Amino acid sequence: MGRRHALAFPYGRTGLFLLLKAMGLSGREIICPAYTCVVVSHAVSLSGNTPVFADCEPNGCNMDLDLAGAAVTENTGAILATSLFGVPVDLDHLDRFKEAHPHVSVIQDCAHGFGCLWRGRSVVREGTAALYGLNISKMLTSVFGGMLTTDDDALYQSLMILRDKTLTPGGAGKALRRLVYLATVYPTFREPLYGLVNRMERSGMLDAFTAYYDETVIDMPKDHLRGMTRLEARVGLANLGRYKEILRRRAEAAETYFESLAFGPDLVPPPRIPGATYSHFSIRVPEREGLLQAALKRGVQLGCIPEYSIPEMRAYGGHPPEDFPRAADWARRVVNLPVWGGAPVARRVLKRLKGLLPVRSG
Ligand SMILES: *Cc1c(COP(=O)(O)O)cnc(C)c1O
Repeated sequence: MGRRHALAFPYGRTGLFLLLKAMGLSGREIICPAYTCVVVSHAVSLSGNTPVFADCEPNGCNMDLDLAGAAVTENTGAILATSLFGVPVDLDHLDRFKEAHPHVSVIQDCAHGFGCLWRGRSVVREGTAALYGLNISKMLTSVFGGMLTTDDDALYQSLMILRDKTLTPGGAGKALRRLVYLATVYPTFREPLYGLVNRMERSGMLDAFTAYYDETVIDMPKDHLRGMTRLEARVGLANLGRYKEILRRRAEAAETYFESLAFGPDLVPPPRIPGATYSHFSIRVPEREGLLQAALKRGVQLGCIPEYSIPEMRAYGGHPPEDFPRAADWARRVVNLPVWGGAPVARRVLKRLKGLLPVRSG
């Protein structure tokens, strides 16, 4: 990742939770995207801080940094700059934000942002630290798991001490559960067994992975303070060996979709930015449920994450959609097209979805 230090955690959210503590942030406001994974605001809340939400950019998926700036107070401790779907944070805009608000620390949420570049600048190398998720849905995986990277020697030392004091070692029991989990879900993330994922989902087998939020509760998984197991670390290292290939395939799949689909008001593309790594290729459609069902009939399981705007959740105030209209729009209309298999799988998906999505002629 190009930074001096990296530390492993059982989940990305555990890393964030301990990072805020190691940075001495408590009773502070932390600026978060309204449209991101809810585990982020859970970790912020449980660390004794208050998430303050900012809506998306007018034409993008990432947080609008002007709105974020307007939300800053004297009590703001940090901003979670997030490269959602692998679309890089606008680092020029972030520089202006930092200049205007020097008391606010920048944390990069790179759970989707592996390898992202903004005009050639590496996003993960900006700010105090960068956070990554390593669960099985992420670009790099250690089954479950997360990681923090930083160049700050003192922060690294205090984080390591805090981590080793707070976490209990991941023992044989956890390793065995992880192994069973891995054997169960591996094929669904590996082979084009689209229908199988759906059958597993309906049978509840993937609940540990998918049913991860209840909109009334702010919590963390029971084992969030049990360290990463050796098995997970080994899977993570093995995946690191495939890192370049993983990035290449996603770029290739994204390129295929950009070239083949006829975008317009009824099919909104993700931002097309050089340096984006497209952990997800997220389009917006007018009538999502119909598309998902029709695709499934043809054996294609599409995603729709994140399918919520965090401030609309009851645990976060139950705001009406109009308060965060862009996040509301993404939440209701997003569809993620498969990117893991590179151009060949993207082409196969387009073929199977023929007539369901507008394609370019010729
Ligand atoms: C996955 C993810 C995280 C970290 O998730 P964990 O499940 O705690 O590892 C953080 N931010 C975003 C945007 C994510 O998608």
